[in-house]
Amino acid sequence: MKILVDREKCRGSGECEKICPQDAIAIVNGVAVIDAAKCDFDGICIPACPHGAISFLEEEKDAGGV
Ligand code: SF4
Repeated sequence: MKILVDREKCRGSGECEKICPQDAIAIVNGVAVIDAAKCDFDGICIPACPHGAISFLEEEKDAGGV
């Protein structure tokens, strides 16, 4: 599991940075950057983003499976 920031959608408003309990998000050059070492994947930042820029990225477990 990963948390992904869509750089096209992110406006750097910092709502995610404020809400993250792990202090895992920083706004760098106007885009949210998530520190994977701090993130505990609780998903709190996903609905916090007014631009819908943050989402879970499910890692492909089994290429070719259905
Ligand atoms: S998923 Fe949770 S811990 Fe990870 S960056 Fe978002 S709010 Fe922070």
